[in-house]
Order: sequence, then structure tokens, then C-alpha cells
Amino acid sequence: MTKVLAVANQKGGVAKTTTVASIGAALAAMDLSVLVVDLDPQGSLTFSLGHDPDLITTSVHEVLLGESDIVDALVSTEDGVTLLPATIDLAGAEALLLMRPGREYALKRALATVAQDYDVILLDCPPSLGVLTLNGLTAADEVAVPLQCETLAHRGVGQLLRTVTEVQQITNPGLRLLGVIPTLYDARTTHSRDVLADVSDRYDLPVLSPPIPRTVRFAEASASGASVMAGRKNKGSQAYRELSDNLWQHWDAGKPLATLEATV
Ligand code: ADP
Ligand code: MG
Repeated sequence: MTKVLAVANQKGGVAKTTTVASIGAALAAMDLSVLVVDLDPQGSLTFSLGHDPDLITTSVHEVLLGESDIVDALVSTEDGVTLLPATIDLAGAEALLLMRPGREYALKRALATVAQDYDVILLDCPPSLGVLTLNGLTAADEVAVPLQCETLAHRGVGQLLRTVTEVQQITNPGLRLLGVIPTLYDARTTHSRDVLADVSDRYDLPVLSPPIPRTVRFAEASASGASVMAGRKNKGSQAYRELSDNLWQHWDAGKPLATLEATV
């Protein structure tokens, strides 16, 4: 059975794209067949996986609007994952989709035709709770929420959780909220731990383990468009590998997800 995981948070800069690229690469390195979907008009995922959005002719945009077959838009990457890329055209998809009945189901319908080719499909949602994120949440089996541990600015979490509940009530009753992925974590400060404890307490959410530490390497990797797992030994990649292993053990063998006990 294919697992579809949406990575969503309407706040930008919380490491959604980094998380999708890194978990995708880590799962591919485990010999799993992985598809990642860029749902952000900025095309950061597309870029970070070595493709220039400006040179892409068929993207998720045409697929969502039913103008192209999904197989014609898929590209391979050096990280071993297959990518459904995004271009800036996607910025117009919100408005175009809004006028269509069943607009939340466009991605789910497209993925259904290729899902059997993949063990895992990861959806990189844009920093908004608009039609594109609703498409991601509607197509997903599970959703994980990256949260940066640096600030207490988590007011958006409640709104995101309400959106997840509405999706569960209306377009995707099977959607499961996996929990929070702590990102940009600094183990040296108690502040990071306080933030996690606060979030998990307030919203009654599992916090997935391990937290992803802040590493300089990530900023470099996405800026150069080089392979996300290029700095294979850095602490961030290591943490993503461990998290990916936890996720796969959970999906494949039904093991309980490793969570941060210490914070609850
Ligand atoms: P989002 O998709 O939520 O907007 P990104 O994945 O694009 O977030 O990450 C935002 C910025 O933070 C990027 O410049 C990225 O390179 C950087 N970043 C992400 N994770 C880490 C990390 N663990 N350590 C250092 N920088 C990171
Ligand atoms: Mg992003």
C-alpha cells in the first residue's frame, strides 16, 4: 500500500520543503520508491532537487488543471526520488481551480493513476491554507506539521489544526494527523525544549522523534540546488534519516511512532 504524507504549515520558513526533500532522499536511499510533489508556486522543492523551475515545461500546474497527464510531468532527480515539479504558473492555479467543482480532489485524482508505482508519496504544501494545501490534505493519508523550535510564534497552529479537522469532515475522512516535526532545533538551549513542550501540551499533539537540529549545511544545499543529502554526515541529514526510518517502520511494520516523551 502506498503511503501519502502531506507536510503542511501555512507559516513559511519552518522547513517543510527541506523536510520533504530530506525524508524523500532518505527513503530512496533505503531502496524505496518515492514520489515527491511540489505544491508551492515558488518551486523551492523543484529547485532544491536540482531542477530549474524556469526550464520546466510540464508541471503540477497542468496536471491539476487536467491539461497534462501526470506521467508527462514527472522528472527524476539525483537523490533517487521522482519529482512532480512546480513552476510559478502554479500561482494562477488557485484562482483557476476555485471556479471548478471538486477542486480539492484534483491532486488525489492525478496521483491515483501512478500511486501503485511508489511506496511513499510526499507532498510539499505551500505556505498558505488555500486550494493547493487543501488538495494536499485531501490527497494524503497522513499529515505532519514541521514547527520551528526557535520562536513561540505558533499562533497559526490552531488554525492549521482546524483546517485539518474540516478536511477530515468534508473531503478526506481518513486523514490522520501524525504530529509535529520539530525543526531548527537547538539542543543546547532549554528554550527549544520549552517551545516543544508548550506546543505538544496546548494542542495535544505527538512530537515526532528525533528533532531536526539547525545545521548550516541545509542553507547551503538549497541555495546551490545541489543534492539535499550531499552533506551526508551533517547532524541534520542524520536526524532526517532517523526520522525516515521511524516513519517507515511505522508504515511498513506497524510499529508505534517514536515520539519525544520528555516533552509531555
Ligand atoms: P518552508 O518550506 O517551510 O518555507 P524551507 O524548507 O524552505 O521552509 O526552509 C527555510 C530555510 O531554512 C531554508 O533556507 C532552509 O535551507 C533552512 N533550513 C531548513 N532546515 C534547516 C536546518 N535543519 N538547519 C539550518 N537551516 C535549515
Ligand atoms: Mg517550502
